[in-house]
Amino acid sequence: MAAFLARRTELGNEIRLRTEREFTLISGKKPIRMEGQCGLCDKPVVFSADWQHSRTRPDGREIPNWRERLVCPCGINNRLRASLHFMKSNCGLTPDSSVYLTEQATPFYDLVKGRAPHTVGSEFLGDGTAPGATNGRGLRNEDMTRLSFRDGQFEIAGSFDVLEHVPDYRSALKELCRVLSPGGSLVLTAPFRLDLAQTLARARIQADGSIEHLHPPEYHGDPLNPDGVLCYYHFGWDLLDDMRNAGFAQAFCHLYWSWELGYLGGMGILFHAVR
Ligand SMILES: [Zn+2]
Repeated sequence: MAAFLARRTELGNEIRLRTEREFTLISGKKPIRMEGQCGLCDKPVVFSADWQHSRTRPDGREIPNWRERLVCPCGINNRLRASLHFMKSNCGLTPDSSVYLTEQATPFYDLVKGRAPHTVGSEFLGDGTAPGATNGRGLRNEDMTRLSFRDGQFEIAGSFDVLEHVPDYRSALKELCRVLSPGGSLVLTAPFRLDLAQTLARARIQADGSIEHLHPPEYHGDPLNPDGVLCYYHFGWDLLDDMRNAGFAQAFCHLYWSWELGYLGGMGILFHAVR
């Protein structure tokens, strides 16, 4: 966190310039269009953004949710385009790679499976399907805290905005480490607070199994549940310690931004841990 705060001070003016440049795309609350290059499609495209999940800054200006809503015609948003781009550029993802994704009922899973056919995805089904088994819809059931895969089965694991929904997320990190081969990479995104040294627990499971809300409940979109899924955590910098304690040899937080590639929002955040 100290290293980040020092870097942010160094970058202060550049981050302001990024934000001002992003404002040039905005005119009222009209849909947003932006020419760029998709790092997945590898061609010039027109990205688009809407005003779902927008937020109002302290200065009263409203900004779109660039992380979730800046989308390529290939259907993939800023956060997931950057994550898959990172898996290619920094984790050696090739068509032969064995990949595990903690999602399966998503367009992103279909995209990765199309590019790396050895990809395995799963969902936390809760419908009585045994761990490692597949339900009638072809979805594999896995509990991230008790994966059914063998040690070292995968070269790359990807978990994108799932970990905050796992009450015992430290066990999930241990399991993701266990199923990676030595030198294998975990790429992870989750709600992250750059200003928090310690992870903020928003809710916890009590001894009787009920949920105690420590902050107003926050529900995120879930492809399997129209009511959404409860967010237990906003992670802080101790997530890097949690990754190392889970068995990873190295853990990194990457900050990214690119006008050309449509990675807007001042600073994108993703985590990379190497077994
Ligand atoms: Zn694309």
